[in-house]
Amino acid sequence: NSFEDFYLSRELLMGIFEAGFEKPSPIQEESIPVALAGRDILARAKNGTGKTASFIIPTLDKIKPKVDKIQALILLPTRELALQTSQVVKTLGKHLNINCVVSTGGTSLRDDIVRLDDSVHILVGTPGRVLDLAARDIADLSSCSIFVMDEADKMLSQEFKNIAQQILAFLPKKHQSLLFSATFPLTIQEFIAKNLKNPYEINL
Ligand code: AMP
Repeated sequence: NSFEDFYLSRELLMGIFEAGFEKPSPIQEESIPVALAGRDILARAKNGTGKTASFIIPTLDKIKPKVDKIQALILLPTRELALQTSQVVKTLGKHLNINCVVSTGGTSLRDDIVRLDDSVHILVGTPGRVLDLAARDIADLSSCSIFVMDEADKMLSQEFKNIAQQILAFLPKKHQSLLFSATFPLTIQEFIAKNLKNPYEINL
């Protein structure tokens, strides 16, 4: 098992090896080929398993740098996690011309407007701010074909699940969903049944 088995671009492989990753972790081994093939994924995974790279590597592989549109949305429950995740995007995507912007609550909306005016391929953010940006037409999600939710159980509580559902309405009907969660309470199961298509399930 090697990252070379996934037929990634040379530039992406360079980013992976420079990050010090020698071989895929079990969750990466299982999720990367399935995600590359375009299937929805539903993964039960803890922190420390390498789950972040398991959705970032296929996402980076699918982005077309020449297309000046948001092509992937990564939702996380907190600003801290959004910043950490965007750092992984930058590290692994170092040799790709892919731009990633972080938008979360607790920061100036005006700054987000300025950042989103440039070419952005990946938007990493928290649900409330992302919905606000999409509803105000500041973030155009109409070409966003990859939807990632990490720590989904923290975002799909009864009070927040509507926000995720409203965000999804701004994405094209045909998109790929990668959902990661430590637990699967009823609200998540409902969200999955409604939004994921025949997801490949991973339990690690
Ligand atoms: P995560 O579960 O995504 O929070 O990742 C946990 C830690 O494992 C992070 O510090 C990653 O940089 C590291 N990591 C992820 N994938 C690999 C890999 N294939 N080889 C070595 N380290 C990795």
